[in-house]
Amino acid sequence: MAQMRHDSSTFFPAPQLVFKQLLGLMSEENGYMKALKCRECGREYPLTANHVCEFDFGPLEVAYDYDLIRNSLNREVISRRSNSMWRYRELLPVAKEPTVGLQVGYTPLVKADRLAKRLGIRELWIKNDTVNYPTLSFKDRVVSVALSRSKELGFDTVACASTGNLANSVAANAASAGLRAFVFIPADLEQGKIVNSLVYGPEVISIKGHYDEVNRLCAEIAGKIQLGLR
Ligand SMILES: [Zn+2]
Repeated sequence: MAQMRHDSSTFFPAPQLVFKQLLGLMSEENGYMKALKCRECGREYPLTANHVCEFDFGPLEVAYDYDLIRNSLNREVISRRSNSMWRYRELLPVAKEPTVGLQVGYTPLVKADRLAKRLGIRELWIKNDTVNYPTLSFKDRVVSVALSRSKELGFDTVACASTGNLANSVAANAASAGLRAFVFIPADLEQGKIVNSLVYGPEVISIKGHYDEVNRLCAEIAGKIQLGLR
């Protein structure tokens, strides 16, 4: 847009060209996302680092452009891609190619015949998400998305409140991505639980209070100084 404004004194492009430029700009900036939408009232918000509706405190979810996705994604395209969660990238809230946690997902299905028999069902498969990369937790999925998106939005610092797995994943993925990480934990958390996180070198802040209080404080601080993850 700055470029267009700059050029406008010497060159005024045809309306179709402006439209094409805007389309290109929107696609490049937002990928397949259209807006953030409140789950309670349906109000839409711009695609910024915001997670709560200012009218009713409802959670904001990502609204996708499914027509656009339909045109570029099908089973064949997915099957040609590498074996990670990112083979479904059009359906994930990132605008560009992901940059964090590229190997996450595509965990195996384990056939559980004896449990199936016990439950009285013909066939049962269990998703083994304990082999995710890099911290052996399903939290690696959400953290990969959150940190990829944080980098897109220009953040250099991320934070979370956690009592274990989320802290590990944020610390590990932030270290890998070159982001600064803050981990907020309850002060009475067992040391064994934070050793895993500490090896990745995050800033650990211990708070006197239970998890909900730690979580609220982390969210308030993140809102105040614009950290990339809550
Ligand atoms: Zn709302």
